[in-house]
Amino acid sequence: MSRVFNFSAGPAVLPEEVLRKAAEEMVDYHGSGMSVMEMSHRSKDFQNILAAAEEDFRELLGVPENYKVLFLQGGGNTQFAMVPMNLMRNRVADYIVTGQWAKKAAKEAEMYGEVHVVASSADKNFSYIPDLSNLPIDDQADYVYICQNNTIYGTTIHELPNTKGKDLVSDVSSMFLSEPMDVTKYGLLWGGVQKNVGPAGVTIVVIREDLIREEVFPGTPTMLRYKTHADSGSLYNTPPCYNIYVCGLVFQWLKEMGGLSVMKQRNEEKAAILYDYLDQSKLFKGTVVKKDRSVMNIPFVTGNADLDAKFIAEASAAGLKNLKGHRTVGGMRASLYNAMPKAGVETLVQFMDRFEKDNV
Ligand SMILES: *Cc1c(COP(=O)(O)O)cnc(C)c1O
Repeated sequence: MSRVFNFSAGPAVLPEEVLRKAAEEMVDYHGSGMSVMEMSHRSKDFQNILAAAEEDFRELLGVPENYKVLFLQGGGNTQFAMVPMNLMRNRVADYIVTGQWAKKAAKEAEMYGEVHVVASSADKNFSYIPDLSNLPIDDQADYVYICQNNTIYGTTIHELPNTKGKDLVSDVSSMFLSEPMDVTKYGLLWGGVQKNVGPAGVTIVVIREDLIREEVFPGTPTMLRYKTHADSGSLYNTPPCYNIYVCGLVFQWLKEMGGLSVMKQRNEEKAAILYDYLDQSKLFKGTVVKKDRSVMNIPFVTGNADLDAKFIAEASAAGLKNLKGHRTVGGMRASLYNAMPKAGVETLVQFMDRFEKDNV
């Protein structure tokens, strides 16, 4: 059995140790005689799995007491609706549009209230982060929304916006648990786990308690109210048990690795290997403004679509998989999530260097 280097943006690479542990425990979980997949979500075994997952997650991210951690379903796209349905009290929200995911979130929110796009980088195909220090924040705004790491374009909001006292809501899907965060700076942050945390099917929401309210947009389904899930400890209905279990294994792995400061350092080191190469390459170029570069998702192009296609095919044949960029950017994209080993980036850069010598 051999593993490839998988640069997919999501679903994405998971730690091999986690996969092996899950395999080991697959048929008989801790002497229960059954798989986690076969257990009642009300069983003691699963309750322990969920409790440990939440505790480890809280410890890793440093989630304060007055925030709830919810394990939900429906993916990122469901949060695009849940956020406005639950938080738009005054029916006004300000959105910062730095890519397609923020744009989609803003569009969804329009169904529930007045949406102001207070900053956007659409003019240059989302290749930079606009100045967010003095935005025209509406007095009535219920929250300011960002997508903090733009998976498709490879930019990150490295400095959070000045929200002028309004609550910040952030989609952290593609940077979740890649570095420490100060949770107190957010009213709500959420991430789909399939980018950096676990198997698709779980969305983790971290929400300050005072934002969990009875009054929501009229007609909001029970399943789409944060209060439903907060009151029942993420066990209102059958949760995606197996996926939560695998997320829990990833949290244990992250703790064994030394936690999020260690991950941040490792991730920065890995990204630097690729960025340093790109900055001196005569063939390959990064596509975003340097100061806004993402450590997680790194798009690059040759400027020649045929050569891009040749590169992607040859890289794939050499075991460097899923390097094709998003169709709106073209070229290539390497996602270097927590579970991508340093050897993966080193191998990629060696391969790029050889390709450059053969093709320039
Ligand atoms: C992938 C992604 C989404 C969409 O998530 P789904 O679970 O597919 O709905 C939203 N935001 C970001 C930043 C993403 O990377």
